[in-house]
This record gives sequence, structure tokens and C-alpha cells, in this order.
Amino acid sequence: MSESENVDRDEIEKFDALAHRWWDPNGDFKPLHDINPKRVQYIAERSDLNSGPVVDIGCGGGILTEALASLGADVTGVDMAGKALSVARLHALESGVDVTYLEGTAEALAQSHAEHFHTVTCLEMLEHVTSYASTIAACAAVTAPGGNLFFSTINRNPKAYALLILGAEYVLNLLPRGTHDYAKFIKPSELSAAIRAAGLDVVDISGMTYNPFTRTSAVGRDVDANYIVHATKPLNDNL
Ligand code: SAH
Repeated sequence: MSESENVDRDEIEKFDALAHRWWDPNGDFKPLHDINPKRVQYIAERSDLNSGPVVDIGCGGGILTEALASLGADVTGVDMAGKALSVARLHALESGVDVTYLEGTAEALAQSHAEHFHTVTCLEMLEHVTSYASTIAACAAVTAPGGNLFFSTINRNPKAYALLILGAEYVLNLLPRGTHDYAKFIKPSELSAAIRAAGLDVVDISGMTYNPFTRTSAVGRDVDANYIVHATKPLNDNL
């Protein structure tokens, strides 16, 4: 492995260690299960999932990947955590959905699949990599002109710290301690700048709120903690 690879090995080990927990709806990834229907709806409303191949980068155990496949999309899931992918492959067999899983990074995919995908999703991953700008540039590279991209992450401010680290990891024990590193949270302005620097247009930024007590989530205006961004790749670079 090259040292310049955009992978935080400690993060990958953390996700590999939790691999067996991915599909427990009441386990360590409970919030991802609970927010999944709303984020799938956001993506499906904004991108025609049947218009061409879809890639889910940082797919983990495949919670989003399988949901996209069940809507008829031709989906590839990509992740660096090999154990998470083993779980994802087994679960897809069990569910009877057709998904291709590849172990690797967005940067490696950019080499093998340039301008290939019509829809690119990269959810809840950017706050776990060494350089989110590099991941976003690689996501842009794998997108066909006119394609849609979706990124989600966590804002960096005291409220996000209180909700995601103190609340979720220490008070409610909703997420394992150490899941998130506050310094790696990304402000919407910073994410937008990186998206634009990758030659993409930002179409929408929406908040994703989650109530752990009712286990309900909503997509709306509150971008103080979790948020999702829809971007597009222009049809012609010269325009
Ligand atoms: N996108 C999924 C899982 C989010 S958890 C969902 O929202 O349901 C973050 C995932 O990103 C983990 O599975 C982790 O292994 C993966 N990841 C972290 N750094 C990565 C990298 N550099 N390349 C590929 N995957 C990475």
C-alpha cells in the first residue's frame, strides 16, 4: 500500500471490528438503519437510478447499497473494510438482491472506472478519510457528465459535538465511543468548496435530523448536525 493512499487505517480497523454488527437494526449501526429510508428517498427523487450504473462509495455492510439495488439500480458498493464487504456480500445473497462489491478506495476506482457512473453516493464516509477533498475529486472522476452525486457528513459546531459525540457516544450509547472525531467534521461551506473545486455544481444542501427516542428521521432545513448534499457533474467541461 502506498503511503499517500487516502485511507486512515485505524478507521478501517474500527469498521472491520464491527463488521458482524452491520445488519442488526438495534445494534451499533442503528441510526444508519433508521435514517436509510429518508436518504434513499432524497436520492431517488433527484437521480434516475435506472438511467445507468450506480456506485456507493464507503458502502460498509451495504445498508444503502441494497436499498438502491432493490429499487432496480445496477449498483456497485466500494469499501476498504474487507470484513464489512464479506458481510455485505452474504447479506445480499440472503436478501436476493444483485449487488457487486469491490474492495478499494474512490481514488482506485477513478483509475479503473473514469466517467462510468450515472449516480454516485458517498454517505457518512468523508469524516473518516484522511483527505475528503481527494475522495470528492475521485467521486467526480468516476461520474459520467450529467451524472448526480450525493455526499453526506456531519457539520462542525458545538451542537454537532453535543449531539453526535457527547449525546450519541457517551450519554445514549447509541454509537460506539470513538466512532467520530470532532476535528474531522466538515462545515457545509467547506464541503461545498471541495465539491466546486472538483468541477461539480452544488444543487442542494439539506439537513438530516434524527430523533433517537422515536427513531424517526427527517430531511429538512436544519443542517446543524448531519446533512446531505446533491451535486451534479456538468455535461460539458467547457461550458
Ligand atoms: N455509507 C454507509 C456506511 C458509512 S460508515 C452508510 O451510510 O450506510 C463509513 C464507511 O466508510 C465504513 O464502512 C468504512 O470502512 C468506509 N471507509 C472509510 N474510509 C474509507 C476509504 N478511504 N475508502 C473506502 N472506504 C472507506
